[in-house]
Amino acid sequence: MKSLIEKIRTVPNFPKDGIMFRDITTLLIDADGFKTAIDKTVKRWSDLGVTKIAGIDARGFILGGAIAYNLGVGFLPVRKKGKLPPKTIGEEYQLEYGVDTLEVLQNSLDSSDRVVVVDDLIATGGTAEATVKLIRRLKAEVLGCSFIINLPDLGGVSRLKELGVESFSLCEFKGH
Ligand code: AMP
Repeated sequence: MKSLIEKIRTVPNFPKDGIMFRDITTLLIDADGFKTAIDKTVKRWSDLGVTKIAGIDARGFILGGAIAYNLGVGFLPVRKKGKLPPKTIGEEYQLEYGVDTLEVLQNSLDSSDRVVVVDDLIATGGTAEATVKLIRRLKAEVLGCSFIINLPDLGGVSRLKELGVESFSLCEFKGH
């Protein structure tokens, strides 16, 4: 049987030249692969008093919804700018060229919340860092960040560690 990492497709030069796109679509359409990825992640975050999963637009929604359901906790969508109706709070983060903004609903968490951030992949960590900042601005506690894929050479996990946030991922790819 194929391992989890073998179920992830790598597409060179997508969406632009020089990028090795790690495509989890091939993992998601494989029933065993999807279930294994969710089960392993749920096991990692069980029995820790998690109250919400914060899933990052858009692949973090697919994974985060299943993880939240299995943990029996709520799901907070972290959306790209302009998708959520008011009132929202936003946090800018750096892209390779320019900036983008992530938003969550105002007052959607409070100091009783213990939150795990979910996305498909961590590269430089900019996206996850913006999400951690949003959650902290809502006065909730970030228990950790959870990914399918870590690209360790791009430093995202170290960047989160400097913020005092631990990371969990199911597999790693060398390089970018
Ligand atoms: P970063 O903010 O640099 O950690 O980038 C993480 C975000 O960009 C995640 O939402 C990923 O879905 C996406 N991403 C970055 N690099 C890749 C890659 N090589 N393959 C697939 N998605 C990527």
